Amino acid sequence: MDAERRFWNDEMETLPSDRKRALQEARLLARLPNAWAGSSLLRREWKASGVHPADIRSLDDFIRAVPTVHKEMVRQFRDDTGDPYGGMSLLPADVPCDVHTSSGTTGAPTFLPITERDKSIFAESLARHLWAAGLRPGGVASLSLALYLRPAFALADAARRIGARVTFTDWPDLPRVVQTFRYLKPDVHAFLSPPQAIGLRAEIARLGLDPKEILGSTGGFIWAGDALTPKARRLVDEEWDSEAFELSGTGDLCFMMQECDRHDGLHMHDDLWFVEVVEPGTTIPVAEGERGEFLFTSLMDESLAFIRWRSEDIGTATTEPCACGRTSTRLHFLGRVGYRVSIRGQTVFPVEVQRILELWPEVDHGLFQIVRTGPDMEILRLRVGTREGEIADPAGLKPRLEASLEDALGIPARVDWVDAESLLALGPPHKVPRIHEAD
Ligand SMILES: [Zn+2]
Repeated sequence: MDAERRFWNDEMETLPSDRKRALQEARLLARLPNAWAGSSLLRREWKASGVHPADIRSLDDFIRAVPTVHKEMVRQFRDDTGDPYGGMSLLPADVPCDVHTSSGTTGAPTFLPITERDKSIFAESLARHLWAAGLRPGGVASLSLALYLRPAFALADAARRIGARVTFTDWPDLPRVVQTFRYLKPDVHAFLSPPQAIGLRAEIARLGLDPKEILGSTGGFIWAGDALTPKARRLVDEEWDSEAFELSGTGDLCFMMQECDRHDGLHMHDDLWFVEVVEPGTTIPVAEGERGEFLFTSLMDESLAFIRWRSEDIGTATTEPCACGRTSTRLHFLGRVGYRVSIRGQTVFPVEVQRILELWPEVDHGLFQIVRTGPDMEILRLRVGTREGEIADPAGLKPRLEASLEDALGIPARVDWVDAESLLALGPPHKVPRIHEAD
């Protein structure tokens, strides 16, 4: 293997647009009969829309006729039938596979099978990301994640495929993470989540260590779990003397997209996925570069029927080739459909709030929630986490924070202090639910 080559998979990462589309169409058409035969949920939805796989002879047919599926349908199907896979599994009951669970940031987790073949396919695509972040043969990959995540083992296989050593830690086990950096000096760390970044910084300070010395030899930190904000990038790039690579996607699908060293959008894998950007809740396409909801279709997954899956993620897409030389579609992720709120008719995403809070050292930790009291509100209400004695004058800071939010967003804002630990206790360890539903 040539450690000097630019891309892990030169052919698939630099496909010309006509070949890309032809490949997507061929793979999609080959897949539809199996998906239809295997997935009870998909079959039910297609029948309800009067669609049969024999009717779909092109990508255009697909876009015109095929209904979408989404998470709530899967949960409902599971609750109605007792099928743990919610009608989405394509595997007969006696086929061996691993069974993961969804991240469950919103609602009860669903069950997600994955076969060895699928793990291998996703490992190949994840190796492209690890390679882009600087992992090379003979290197060390530090993986810090939760085993319930569907791409967990594929990610480890990706590092092995490159010819690297792989080491594992749990997200919140910071002393072990620090030891890993001190002694194994990994080349790439995945995934750095927002709470882990804060915790790692504090743990290194507590031990009286120099962050550049401990973390600077790691060439790439793959950031996941929430949007990479400018402050988080500065922490990794400047304070740690490394480089942050934002990764996003939908773990349940093994759909992962990641920045290259140009940091201008997240590269996806056009050979494995067909992505549409539509007006939220519809199948009406938006113009290239416009904000819309991503619909994901997995072109290769033999385990699950993610066909026109409504991701509930809002963002933009560009098919312009990147300065890095890759031609793969780049997506810019803005936030979850369910995480946007409307104040006096104006849409606000949590990441937009976070960018403002980050201007204030007292609250730049990212522990906050937006309180939602209805579909459209008069005022932006925030619950911001703090610890006893952490802020010298919380009562004095509050109006200044509110004024700063009002200035930046052009809408009235109110800040309420809440205990930081109670916010962290609300979600999975890597995420604080950004919306707090209230009356
Ligand atoms: Zn690029």
